[in-house]
Order: sequence, then C-alpha cells, then structure tokens
Amino acid sequence: MTSTALAAERWIARSIPPFLLGITGYSIYVVVYSLSIDYLLLESLKTSAAIAILVVYFTLFLPYIFAFIRLLSTMADPGYIPIIHSKSKSKEKALWLDRDGVLEGTVLPPRGIERFYAKDAFICDARGLPKFCDRGCYNWKPARTHHCSQVGRCVRRMDHFCPWVGGVVAEGNTNFFIQFTFYAALFCGFILGVMIWALVDSKGRLNGHWIAMCACAGLFGFMALGLFAVTTFQNEVKNVTTVEGYARDNFSSVFVAVYLPHGYTPRHDKKPPLAIITYPLPRESLPDVLRKTFAVIECGTNDRLWDLGSWLENLKSVMGERYIDWFIPIRRSPCCSRGGDDYDYPFGRALRKRKREYGL
Ligand SMILES: [Zn+2]
Repeated sequence: MTSTALAAERWIARSIPPFLLGITGYSIYVVVYSLSIDYLLLESLKTSAAIAILVVYFTLFLPYIFAFIRLLSTMADPGYIPIIHSKSKSKEKALWLDRDGVLEGTVLPPRGIERFYAKDAFICDARGLPKFCDRGCYNWKPARTHHCSQVGRCVRRMDHFCPWVGGVVAEGNTNFFIQFTFYAALFCGFILGVMIWALVDSKGRLNGHWIAMCACAGLFGFMALGLFAVTTFQNEVKNVTTVEGYARDNFSSVFVAVYLPHGYTPRHDKKPPLAIITYPLPRESLPDVLRKTFAVIECGTNDRLWDLGSWLENLKSVMGERYIDWFIPIRRSPCCSRGGDDYDYPFGRALRKRKREYGL
C-alpha cells in the first residue's frame, strides 16, 4: 500500500467515529422528537406507542453508546508492542534482522529473545528463531502478534484494522468490539423496524428524516450484524483471529519451537524435526545452566493452535470468565493477562497432536 493510500485510509478512519456519533445524535432527533413527540404524541395522540418506542429506544441506546465509547477509549493502545529502538535509529538503519548472523554468533540478537526460550514452546521461524518484525518495529514478535501497516506498529493478537471504529481491533478491545457490534445491530434493527412502521402508519407520508433514518439504520445495522455474526464472533468461538484466518486461507505454515528434554532421541517411526536449536545463542552472555534445546516442528494450515477445546472456553478467554462481563463493556479480556512464564496464550490440543507426530 502506498504512503498516500495509507494516509487517506488513516484520515478516513479518524473521520468515521465522529460521523457515527453524529448519526447517533441524529437518531435521537428523528426517533425521539420527530416520531415519538411530534407525530405520535402531538399529532396522532398515540401515547402508549410513543412511550413504548421511547423505552425500547433508550434501553438499546445506552448499552450501544456505552460500548462504543468504551471501544474508542482503547484505541490509544489496543495491544501495541512497545517500541524499543529510537526513531532516529529506525531512519538510519534498515530494520531487518541478520538471521544468519544471529544463528552463527556474528551478530548480537536484539534484546528480549530470552523471554521466548524461557517458555517450553513458542512460535518461531523454520530455523527456530522467534518471529521478528522487519517492517519498522524491530522487535521480536510474541505469539499472535501482527504488524498493522495502517498504524505502523506490531499489535498483540491483532484481529483487523477497522475504519468504522478508527483503529485496530486486537487483544485489548476485541471483547468491546464484539459488544459494540452486537448492541449496534440491535439498536439499528429496532430503529429500522420502527421507522418502517411509522412510514406505513402515516399512510405513506414522505417524511425525509424518517426515510434518511431508515437508510442509515439499514446500512449500519447490516454492517454491524455482518461484523458481529459473520466475522469476529464466529472467529472467537474458534479462538482464531481474522489475521490468522487469512494466513490459513493462504496456506502459510506455522512453526513451533518445542522444548526437548535431556535424553531425547529421535525415533525412526516419527517425523524428524525441521531443525534443532539451542539457546542461549552464541553471542548471548548467559550462563550455560540456562541452556535449553528446542525442536522446530511444522503445524498444518488447518491447525487451530489456540483452540482451548470448547467454544465456551474460547469465548471466556476473550469475553471474560463471568457471564456479566460478556454484556457489560468495562473489564478488559482475560487474555490481556499473561498466562505465566510458559506461554503468552495457552496452546490447545492441536499442538499436542503435532508433537506426537514428531515423537515429542
Ligand atoms: Zn511491527
């Protein structure tokens, strides 16, 4: 994507949330004033219909607007990996990793690599090095991290860049995004239904505001429902992000470095590992007692490495352990809390199955 196209996309993304808030304000004028007060209460004297519409409208409006504001509040940091190099350095230096040099010991590995081999398994490249961002961040990439070109940063558990909410949907806000799209679909669906009813009830009176509200509610309701039901929620049931889904569709292999206990011997009836790598690497000045050897294995494109085994456990890892958190957009996802020293995200049974194939 060219820099002009990127700048245009960022500008659009920054403009859409205020626009959506403006449309929401407009719905208050149309549904509350034009329809309920002006038409139903004052003109048609349908008091009970007006009250029913107002009660349902605000019952749906409050969770929708609260979820939207909560989601927008996370846009400053949806899960960015901290930048550890200076910007001046990034301009002077090509930000790519000399992987051969790191493996051979002629180049000191960028700091932070020890976090990976402290675990018993981590996502890596085909030779056993953790994934690395060569696109400007110059950092090791924890599991499920993706570089977002729109914002130029690596983001943990990135799902997608969403211009409708002006930023990245990732580890820190996927639950709020799901809540927002769910409540937005309900809110827009109600407005659409009520406006269609009003147009029929008024015997085809052509009220421009009502027709405009029908169009807005239909458009945004359809999009919110699509984002909720077809993509994000459906993915989270399987504990797969949109980015990981694309990688799978493109048959991109995933490699995992798996700790080899002392005394491991290869078995002839099992697959051989793609590579064996020992940490600390040659240039790391760490004591040998920390020495750990890993086997690199390849996982299939259809392996759901993070699937916890049931749709409920997968949803709980994003939406919260308490069901009330599934509906109230306050607490961040449990997946924002690191899972101890062994992993960033717990591997599911797909990895255990692959390890057995390699005799590990
Ligand atoms: Zn990056």
